[in-house]
Amino acid sequence: MNKTFTSLFKNASIKDWQDWRWQFKNRVTGLESLVKLVGKTCLDKAGISAAAAVYPLAINPYYLSLIESYHESDPVFAQCVPSLREISSSDSMPEDPLQEDSHMPVPKLIHRYPDRCLAMVTETCATYCRHCNRKRFWSRPNHVSLKARLQKMMVYITANPQIREVIISGGDPLIFDDNALEKLLSSLKLIPHVEILRIGSRAPVVMPMRITKDLCKVLKRYRPVWFNTQFNHPAEITKESARACNMLQEAGIPVSNQSVLLKGINDSSDIMKDLLNDLQKISVRPYYLFHCDPARGCAHFRTSPKAGVVMMETIRQQCSGLCLPQYVLDVPGSAGKIPLNVMSKAIKTDLKKHQHFFDKLQ
Ligand code: SF4
Repeated sequence: MNKTFTSLFKNASIKDWQDWRWQFKNRVTGLESLVKLVGKTCLDKAGISAAAAVYPLAINPYYLSLIESYHESDPVFAQCVPSLREISSSDSMPEDPLQEDSHMPVPKLIHRYPDRCLAMVTETCATYCRHCNRKRFWSRPNHVSLKARLQKMMVYITANPQIREVIISGGDPLIFDDNALEKLLSSLKLIPHVEILRIGSRAPVVMPMRITKDLCKVLKRYRPVWFNTQFNHPAEITKESARACNMLQEAGIPVSNQSVLLKGINDSSDIMKDLLNDLQKISVRPYYLFHCDPARGCAHFRTSPKAGVVMMETIRQQCSGLCLPQYVLDVPGSAGKIPLNVMSKAIKTDLKKHQHFFDKLQ
């Protein structure tokens, strides 16, 4: 049993703890309950309260239990506890940096690339990640039912035969129960040209008990289903999260990881290398490392692309190719994700050193 769990949630049984519904129901959503639980006076209560008034607070008990020190230097704390820095008056970043709102042919369906679209099936998450580029939606959730939301999406996808892949995202789609997810997957599967379903969810990281045998059975029925999650720090890879990923893999669902490069959290080559090696150990493919989007409320998480390139170059020289994600910058429109690590200075120098090899190839 998790030590922090017994001290934080004294009235919860192990059965409660392992039940994702209990986890979701017992999310910490207010400063008072956070202070009551962690009982620390070192929290910046005024800062948390001011930031949470703009970008709401939600942390489910399991993710809260991963915090080792109640301070912004803790990688889990920094990802989930609101900070005054989120509402800095000098933050002039746009709310919607990827201009997703202007690529919605029907509400909540983002169509940026011809062959795939992203269905935002909810605005809610088990834990709100402070670096989220969709944090603009937290305080104005769309209360339209999933059924009503899907109706227009289905009509649009059906009328656009070039769409072969649908990304089911949010918010976090795994806040829905298995029945709702089954309805969602089965309706998409009925559209003849939809070949691939992809789920984007942080559940394996923040609420791994959501990955149950029953959920895996549902997902298995609609394969090919690809699963993308977001581990950002080695401290998030626990026995529970490894078990969740393994269950998905055993159901034939490939699991890939899309980290975000976050200042003070994973922007050192040692930490990033540990994260990538640990992901490889649990057979999760490091797919993308996103340069943090210039979204309002996230400026304090951003590094310079140059620092990211240098870090990735150090890692490239020390890690197996299987561990290496593509370091990318997402840009608005259909230009998509621009690889940042392909032409670092070090690579150019390496290329020059081996020029004779390339000459021979010509
Ligand atoms: S789980 Fe995803 S959508 Fe939800 S807050 Fe975190 S990054 Fe944003």
